[in-house]
Amino acid sequence: MSTTVAWNPACHEHYAGAGHPERPQRIAAVLDALRAPDLAAHLAWVEAPPAGRAALERVHPAAYLDHLESIAREGGGMANLDPDTIMGPRTWVSALAAAGVALAAVERGMADGTAFAATRPPGHHALAERAMGFCFLNNVVIAARHAQALGCARVLIVDWDVHHGNGTQALVEADASIRFVSMHQSPWYPGTGAADERGVGNVFNVPRPGGLPRATYVRDLLVAVDAALTGWRPDVLLVSAGFDSLAGDPLGEFTLEPDDIAHWTAALRERMAGRPVIGVLEGGYRLDLLAKGVSAHVRALA
Ligand SMILES: [Zn+2]
Repeated sequence: MSTTVAWNPACHEHYAGAGHPERPQRIAAVLDALRAPDLAAHLAWVEAPPAGRAALERVHPAAYLDHLESIAREGGGMANLDPDTIMGPRTWVSALAAAGVALAAVERGMADGTAFAATRPPGHHALAERAMGFCFLNNVVIAARHAQALGCARVLIVDWDVHHGNGTQALVEADASIRFVSMHQSPWYPGTGAADERGVGNVFNVPRPGGLPRATYVRDLLVAVDAALTGWRPDVLLVSAGFDSLAGDPLGEFTLEPDDIAHWTAALRERMAGRPVIGVLEGGYRLDLLAKGVSAHVRALA
């Protein structure tokens, strides 16, 4: 058994300033963890090309992409697109690389059964026309639209990042061909993700306070996944895999352990019964926990 890791070295280049938690060392920690000898034997690697315009415009309007591109072309300083979402001179290169990594992971996952997209910057807070929450392009929705273009009509997205994937929800909530399940800390950033936000019946939010027993989070996400799967059979599963839901992350108060990530991954694969399962990296801000969480997830994908 094996899985493919899609990556691009340009995901290191985005820099949001000293002290910003979404820092280049995150992707280095992820890739180092995946290169550990006992795991590396089970992994294939694909260096993804940057995303092209057509794939991005399935999700983001051309005017928004032009705007980010023009900031990047001006080159110099840092542009605050949002209080915590800062565009530096190399950010656009990283954002295009990350979206390309997500696209390549879809292709490899559809061919081989599983894949992991080592994306940075993350994507699930990005709205159609607005960067926010460290996110510029919504990698997982770009991936979902790519899977649909390649013939997967129905896409399930499961988001276990500790923050609500508000961008993902906004981009899919009117489209019954995609179902979105998110468990997230609430109340917490970004403030969305109430259980009564149901889209067209395709949104399954599981807001939970911090500090609950880990088994409660493990169970409640899978209950919501099973609700989403009732009478509906997705052709592909994309996981918005954020590791800030692990106990000890500085940006969350969930109590999960890497074993829980492995359990979720295996449980989701079992439910998909051979259909593709593709992980797309989101948050995770303590480097050692991020490394352990990614290892557990990818090991269970492999
Ligand atoms: Zn997060």
